[in-house]
Parts: sequence; structure tokens; C-alpha cells
Amino acid sequence: MQQINGMGISGGIATGRIFFYEKTGLYAERRTADDVHKETERFKEALNTAKDQIDILYERSLKEMGEKAAAVFEAHLMILEDAGLYELIVNTIINDRVCAEYAVYKSGQEYAQKLSGSGDEYFMARAEDMADITRRLLQNLKGKKDTKDLPYPVLIMSEEITASDTAGFDRDKILGFISHKGSAYSHAAIFSRNMNIPAMSGIKPDASLDGKVAVLDGYNGILTVDPDEAALKAAEERMKEENDKAAKLKAGIYDIRIKGSGRRIKLLANIGRAEEAVKALECGAEGIGLFRSEFLFMNRNSLPSEEEQFRAYKAAAETMSGKEVVIRTIDLGADKKAECIKFDEETDPALGYRALRICFDRPDIFKTQLRAIYRASAYGEVSVLFPMIVSADEFLKCRKYTEEVMEDLKREGIAFSDDLKLGAMIETPAAALISDELAGSADFFSIGSNDLTQYTLAADRNNDRLRGIYDPHHPAVLKLIEMSVNNAHSHGKLVCLCGELASDISFIRKAAEIGIDELSVSLSALLNVRSELNSL
Ligand code: PEP
Ligand code: MG
Repeated sequence: MQQINGMGISGGIATGRIFFYEKTGLYAERRTADDVHKETERFKEALNTAKDQIDILYERSLKEMGEKAAAVFEAHLMILEDAGLYELIVNTIINDRVCAEYAVYKSGQEYAQKLSGSGDEYFMARAEDMADITRRLLQNLKGKKDTKDLPYPVLIMSEEITASDTAGFDRDKILGFISHKGSAYSHAAIFSRNMNIPAMSGIKPDASLDGKVAVLDGYNGILTVDPDEAALKAAEERMKEENDKAAKLKAGIYDIRIKGSGRRIKLLANIGRAEEAVKALECGAEGIGLFRSEFLFMNRNSLPSEEEQFRAYKAAAETMSGKEVVIRTIDLGADKKAECIKFDEETDPALGYRALRICFDRPDIFKTQLRAIYRASAYGEVSVLFPMIVSADEFLKCRKYTEEVMEDLKREGIAFSDDLKLGAMIETPAAALISDELAGSADFFSIGSNDLTQYTLAADRNNDRLRGIYDPHHPAVLKLIEMSVNNAHSHGKLVCLCGELASDISFIRKAAEIGIDELSVSLSALLNVRSELNSL
């Protein structure tokens, strides 16, 4: 038995086998091929291996999960057997004289774009499969393993788990995350908490641990490798206790009045995928305070279509049946990259091409998303939230885009709600400092304390070494929050706190005193926050 100490970044206990994971992205460098024949043969071998792997996966999922689950692999096989894709890749190798990896990457992108532009719903959905297929072919070319090939769920061990990793893994195959890099405020940690997956960082990945049984304690950041009977039993008891506690908390209710006003603090949930809304409801969320829509854009090489986005937003709205659902427009960039959008190398990505900056640069992407959100508003209580606002003009520009979208939809006779609310995220010191002006034009505020802390204290939220500096309770951060709440209230607007500070039990009383109207928290924190609100 060996105990390794790190840092817990997503609470929970998990026991299972370690899977040493080396990420293969969807991107491959362009390398000139000295021998195109050899590259073609390498590709053919990778292709044949992929077909064999998928055959096995098809049979296994048919047996274990039924026809519907197996159909995914049937579709993958169909694409791999498509002569058009085969020719595209081989011709790229021969005509462009490039390595097999680059030909797979480039042809995969072209093929996905063709599928998503086909106008046919079935083929549009296949464009998503292309990302999986590209990754599998690249993995085979590089001789790496894929988590999708695992017959059982595992503890993923890697140098770094990125936000797009958490979005890309098959949730049913993940028991926990063990990484070297990563802080509790990174998006990967936040998404792990959203998915209720225990995670820890500060552990150097070690290939010799691959396949070993371990217990991950995401509360205390302890990894126990080769646990003895007693350690396994203790972990099991701990997991049972957690489940019992959750069941008890689920039954609780709360009712907290904000001092003087008689208003209740509403408890909402942060989600990244539409299906998480179901869990949110189960845990008593009164709405979705933050739908991080960027998940839909990750791990794929073509942009999600309006139809695909519409379906996701509509599903969340319908699940919540009349309860509010705040959909944030894409906040990609910094530690949330997507292969379907081009990002240049940047010296300071957190201060760079991100969120609305991408949207204003790519109105095609922005308007497609807004159309999908507005269409979904016909099916529930949907609002839009704009991230990374730094000026009042930016917010007005967003409003202008929504007006154009509404005019288009009206002309096309497509239904939408005409009282959809538009919110501004207060997550830059600039937004807090001009919150008086912003409150005049925004319908509500949502305070993103994660970024607000990072930008106020000049401390990278992803850098674990700055743990002592990155402090959401810092008086400067709290002053900016109070200022924003007061300005919003003096314009009669509501304020939600949707950063991780909202899940911080020690902050809840203060949140009530400041006058925060809504707390929106990750799924794993919902029950605890609810119980705390109940006990105040
Ligand atoms: C925040 O910055 O607090 C926030 C909620 O947004 P994200 O964590 O997605 O950047
Ligand atoms: Mg943010």
C-alpha cells in the first residue's frame, strides 16, 4: 500500500483501477512525407486497427447496453468504410506529400464540414462522430490507448486534465481524475464538480501505476495505491456515508429571507450539458443559473449547427419546465479551447481572444448561437447571459445582435419568447466599476467570482502555486461584488452569484447580507448549499 498526497479539487471518494492517459488531440502538425507509400501503409494499418476496435466495441455495447448504444459504433464503422473518406486521406498524403497524421486531421475536418453542411439531420449528427474517428485514427498512428476501449470505469491519471477532456470523456467510464497540474478554480475542476466526479491534482503521472487499484480521496487530496483490505473497507464506508447524507439532504427544504426585503435567496444550478438539468432538478435546484454552452463546441472539428444547439437548449428548458434557464453565450478561449475555432498562440490567453471577443469577431458563430437560444425560449423560461463584458458598449452591441436575430426569426415565422432577459456577467473589474451604467441596460447581473478574483488580484485561476494569493474573499473582490449588487438593486435588477464562491459554505451568510438574490452552484455542491441555507 502506498499513499501519495496531493490536493483535492473535486470532493468525493472513488475506488478503481488507474488508467494512465496520454491525450491525443484532434490536431496534427503538418510534416512532409519522405515516403508517401510508407505513410499510406501506416494510415491503412491505423484504419484496419480502428475497424477491429470498433467491431469489439459494437459487440460489447450491444451485449451490455443494447441496440441504441451500439448504433453509435455502427455509424463509426460506416464512416470508416466510406470510400470517399478513404480516398480523401490517401490523396492528401500523395498529392500534398504529407504524413498520415496530418492527412487524417485535415481530411477529417473537410469531411466533417461536408457532413454538417449537408442539411440532412442524420448526416449532420455524423459530423460529431468524425471527431471521435479522427482521434481514434490519430491514437492508432501514435500507438496510444483510448478510454473508450476500456471495458470498465477507471481513475484517469494524466499530467493535466483540461476542460475539453472532461467534456470529451465518456462519463460512464470515469470514476475520478488524478492530475499533476490543476487548481480548484480551473474549468476542469469546475466541470468535474458539475459531473460529480472526484478529482485531485499535484500528483505526477506515473506509467508504472497503470492498471493498479487505488482509492482517490477528492476531499483531502490523497491517493492510496494498492490499498489493503482495511483501506478499501474504509473507502466503501465513506462512500456509503456520502450517499446516505445526500439522500437525507435531498429531502430537506430551506427558506431564507434576505434581511429587510423579505425576499428568498433562490438556489440555482450550474450545468455544462443539457442532461445535467435532470440531476439539478433532483437535487432541488430552482432553475439553471448558468448553462456553460461552450461544452457543445468542444472535442469536435466542426461547429455545432443551429439545430444541434437548439435541441440542447430546448432540452434544458423543457426539463426545467417553466423554471429559469440562463444560457451563457460561448465563453471559449483561455483554458477552454475548441478545435472547431481557430486560436493563435497567445502570450496571455486569459487576457486574450476569449468569449465575446470571439463572438464579435465571428458574427456567424454568435448569431447562430443566439438564434438557437431564442428558438429554445419558446419552450421555457430562457434568458441569455453575456460573459467577459468590459464596457457598456459591448453590452449594447450584444443587445443589437439579439434584435437582429429576433427580426430574422419574426420574418421567418419562427416562434420565440419576446420577453427574454439579457444579463451581463460581472467578472472583470471593469464591469464591476461601471456596473451603475451596465445596470441601466442589462436585465440582470451574474457575478462570475472565479474570473473576477483572477483579474482583480492578477492571479491566474489555473495556477496552483498562487493558491495563497487567489482568494475570492479578498476585500477588493468583495468590494467589487457589493458595488455591483448595490448598483443593480438601485436599478431594480436582480443579481445572481454563479462563480465557485457561491458554493463556499463560509460565504453564504455574507452573500445574504450583501443582498445577492440568487446563488448558482455546481451539481456536487447543490445539496450542501441547500442544507446550509436551510440552517441559517
Ligand atoms: C466565473 O468566472 O466565475 C464564471 C462563473 O465563469 P467561468 O468559471 O466559466 O469562467
Ligand atoms: Mg468566467
